[in-house]
Amino acid sequence: MTALFLAILVLSLLLLAYYRIPLLISIAILAGLTFAFTELRHFYEIPGWFRWSFGIITMSLAGFAVKPLRRLLISNRLFSVYRKVMPKLSSTEREALEAGTVWWDAELFSGKPRWRRLLRQPAPSLSDREQEFIDGPVEELCLMLDDWEICDKHRDLPESVWQFIRENRFFSMIIPRQYGGLEFSAQANSAVVMKLASRNVTAAVTVMVPNSLGPGELLMHYGTDEQKSYYLPRLASGEEIPCFALTSPLAGSDAGAMPDKGIVCKEEFEGEEVLGLRLSWNKRYITLAPVATLLGLAFRALDPDGLLGDTEDLGISCALIPTSTPGVEIGNRHMPIGAVFMNGPTRGKDVFIPMDWVIGGQERLGQGWRMLMQSLAAGRAISLPSLGVAGGKMASMLTGAYSRIRTQFNVPIGYFGGVEEPLSRIGGRTYRMDAARVLTLIALDQGEKPGVLSAINKYQLTEGSRQCINDAMDVHGGKGIIQGPNNYLAHGYQALPISITVEGANILTRSLIIFGQGAIRAHPCLLKEMNAVTGIANTQARRDFDNALFEHIGFIISNNVRALLLGLTGSRMAPAPVRGPHAHYFRQLSRMSAAFAFMADAVLVLLGGKFKFKEKLSGRLADVLIHLYMASAMLKRFEDDGRPAGDLPLLVWGMEDSLYKIQQSLLGVIQNFPVPVLGGIIRLIIFPFGRPYTGPSDKTVEAVAQLLLNDSESRDRLTNGVFISDRDDATGRVNKAFHLVLESAPAERAIKNARKASVNFENYEGLVKRATESGVITEEQATLVRLAQQASASVIAVDDFPREQFEALIDPALNTEEEEKAGISD
Ligand SMILES: Cc1cc2nc3c(=O)[nH]c(=O)nc-3n(C[C@H](O)[C@H](O)[C@H](O)COP(=O)(O)OP(=O)(O)OC[C@H]3O[C@@H](n4cnc5c(N)ncnc54)[C@H](O)[C@@H]3O)c2cc1C
Repeated sequence: MTALFLAILVLSLLLLAYYRIPLLISIAILAGLTFAFTELRHFYEIPGWFRWSFGIITMSLAGFAVKPLRRLLISNRLFSVYRKVMPKLSSTEREALEAGTVWWDAELFSGKPRWRRLLRQPAPSLSDREQEFIDGPVEELCLMLDDWEICDKHRDLPESVWQFIRENRFFSMIIPRQYGGLEFSAQANSAVVMKLASRNVTAAVTVMVPNSLGPGELLMHYGTDEQKSYYLPRLASGEEIPCFALTSPLAGSDAGAMPDKGIVCKEEFEGEEVLGLRLSWNKRYITLAPVATLLGLAFRALDPDGLLGDTEDLGISCALIPTSTPGVEIGNRHMPIGAVFMNGPTRGKDVFIPMDWVIGGQERLGQGWRMLMQSLAAGRAISLPSLGVAGGKMASMLTGAYSRIRTQFNVPIGYFGGVEEPLSRIGGRTYRMDAARVLTLIALDQGEKPGVLSAINKYQLTEGSRQCINDAMDVHGGKGIIQGPNNYLAHGYQALPISITVEGANILTRSLIIFGQGAIRAHPCLLKEMNAVTGIANTQARRDFDNALFEHIGFIISNNVRALLLGLTGSRMAPAPVRGPHAHYFRQLSRMSAAFAFMADAVLVLLGGKFKFKEKLSGRLADVLIHLYMASAMLKRFEDDGRPAGDLPLLVWGMEDSLYKIQQSLLGVIQNFPVPVLGGIIRLIIFPFGRPYTGPSDKTVEAVAQLLLNDSESRDRLTNGVFISDRDDATGRVNKAFHLVLESAPAERAIKNARKASVNFENYEGLVKRATESGVITEEQATLVRLAQQASASVIAVDDFPREQFEALIDPALNTEEEEKAGISD
């Protein structure tokens, strides 16, 4: 009986915490229970300790509800401690942290995500105008792009392509229609970049740069009316080619430390003395700089002569400078690996610009960093993630097809268990990456600027692309290695590090930004606590701190209880918003969200400001948040797609892999927990019965591989949005051979059964002839087998070059000489 009563007592408290019943209601419930048990003692044998325990707990909680009392006893004392341990933020750090908004990341940080809220978000869609652009000019542009010619021969886009891009206003996707822009949604912007990237990375980068962080974006949000009406139409029509220069040799990832300066001064400009800035800069890696007509420049504005007031260091600022301005140096090119988009340095020494060239005018001097961070919070979710997903989709389409076309040991290589593994990784990752891309775009199209989710997308979708293409290379063997017009993987493979490095290098994004910014922005209480203790220590600040602190304590207790109960019950307590084979995953994510929220708080409370320097822990916690988000995105996508049964293997692979990664990352934090004993206790709470997740099973791996190896609606859905060539080019030949191989498979099987020999492109003529003569296959089937074998041979072929041509490829100067000799000229 004692055990029963103890269980009732503990369970009542646990349930209040599990369901996050507010303090006052909890007190009322507990008071009601105390009263009820006191009355019931007349009828049942209810031990006194049990009633007393209820009473004491109710009274204690009531004490916490009296704010002046708890301030006196607890929060005022902790206020000074917090002031010491809270991380000290520089203004650039604070502006970076505060940039953008929070969205689904806040739900994941809450430990109790509201799934219905996620599912109520609109499904992705494109307007008719956007779809027409993608089916029209984008398709046409893709057809104009010859990867080999662009990258290995001309090392630039042909002039006709530059012209087509300008004329069709590809540079204006983000510019409003009133200025002549296309004014596309984020979904459309991403769809354009993705399709182009699936054909040629150089063209995709060329188009995406003016449509992401740069003059256009900054002008729209911060430009003066005059600046907008002058520049936006010119940018939209392609009359101006913009670039944006932030990075300098000294300041890469730590861009805020740039040494480039603008001194406020008065000088003569166009015959008049005007207030302006004398700029000196040395920037590198600037995309489009060699051909830019308009240079967006970030620099530190200084006012040593006090022309604007008392502040000498005004802070980072942004200006727009026509590259024709005397003193602006551009033109030299860097050679980025695997792609030939325009990229190079720019320099200037003592270049005077009038104040109205500062973006937003004089009043925006010093606001550059905030402007950049705000723009990055949204823009980072579009361009590079779309490029990354294009890589995954192409790897899925082409590697699946190649593994079906290429046979070894008389079997398509995709049927070997060893190859099924990379195939399933490519398919599963692509499904997950695409789901995350689309979900984040949904947020953007609703006006959100989800800084943390954008960083997640930038990191994961470029890293995921690298993993997909690496796997694709392994499956293709020598075919992926030998360069030439027949190789459709090499340039993507070579160019991968670019997307990994730009717009926040991935290592830094993972280990510093995602969890660091997420913890402060998406955590329900941390920012409130920080704001309360970092300002002036007055009564209001103490009150704010008290409220945030007790909300935080309740939050930690609740997540602790939720993690434990969901762990003990295998997450059966958590509701799922849907029924079906995927309902279980909603529950598992609820469990892991509670575990993550609890663990995050444990680490933050224990380490305080020192947490900033624990990047390995931060990176692991980032991995948990990343996979919680990407897994949420997959569930949303599955619902939006109408729960297609054929896609289930992709969903299951993605979910099992994400859950496993979440588990391993949490265990990594536990193993390296700053106080090992506490780590052990947390482990018991989060994983009371050991490790629940094992990753995708062999059955799932096989099912995903099969999906890539066969034609189906699921495969089409997975690769939807990339350019599918039906031409006689490298990818067009793969697509053609794939379909022919699938169609001819029954006939090839019949030949094999009858003649006890597998058909290949060396022996097919004889085998087909005999099989037709003996009636094993029809004439029609014979034609199919012949076509399939010929098409397969052309896919499996790789390039070789005569010596002179080979040397000309290495040295394009020789190429020109050869062409001149042969009388060829552009
Ligand atoms: C092809 C290309 C195009 C580009 N286009 C532009 C452009 O148009 N405009 C522009 O302004 N810039 C551009 N960049 C610059 C780009 O944004 C930078 O390269 C990037 O910010 C990284 O700087 P970095 O290369 O100097 O690397 P570094 O800053 O030297 O970093 C080296 C490594 O250290 C890691 N690291 C640094 N700090 C930390 C930390 N605190 N914690 C953990 N890891 C850390 C980074 O993640 C990276 O892996 C471009 C770069 C390239 C290569």
